[in-house]
Amino acid sequence: MKKSIHINFEVVHSGELSDEINALIVASEMAVITSHAPYSKFHVGAALLLDNGKIVKGSNQENASFPIGFCAERTALSGKIAVAPNAKVEAIAISVLSESGKILPPIPPCGMCRQALLEEETKQNQPIKVYLSGNDQQVIVIDTIKDLLPFQFNGSIFNE
Ligand SMILES: [Zn+2]
Repeated sequence: MKKSIHINFEVVHSGELSDEINALIVASEMAVITSHAPYSKFHVGAALLLDNGKIVKGSNQENASFPIGFCAERTALSGKIAVAPNAKVEAIAISVLSESGKILPPIPPCGMCRQALLEEETKQNQPIKVYLSGNDQQVIVIDTIKDLLPFQFNGSIFNE
C-alpha cells in the first residue's frame, strides 16, 4: 500500500511579515557576522524568538576537526538552554550569506539540527515556527519542526 506524508510551507516576501519577525530575521543576519566558517566559507546565522520576548542568536562554528563543528541552529539552541532553560521557543529564523556576497536562496537546517529542534519542540509541547531567509528577500515559512522531519524519531518508542 502506497502512502504519502504531506507538509505545508509558504514562500513570502519579507515585507509581508510582521515587524517582530523581521526583527528576528535581522538578528539571524547579524548572527552571521560571528560565524566561524574558514573551511566551507558558508556562513549561517540563527535567531530564536522566546516566549519572554528575548532573542537568542547563534552562528555556525566550524572546527579543523570537522565533526566537532556546530551549526548555527544548535549553537543558538545551546545558548537558549544556557540563558533561559525554561523559556519556550516560538520561532527560529535562519539566514545564510556566502563569503563573496553572492545571493543565496533560503537554506533549510541539516538533519541533525532538525532532530535537535524537534526535541525542543516536543519538550515544550508547542510548535516552533521556522523562517528560512536567504539574501534575496524571499522567506520560506514552516509552521512546525514536524513538517521539516517527516517520519520523525521522537523518542516515544522509549515509553512503550
Ligand atoms: Zn545543522
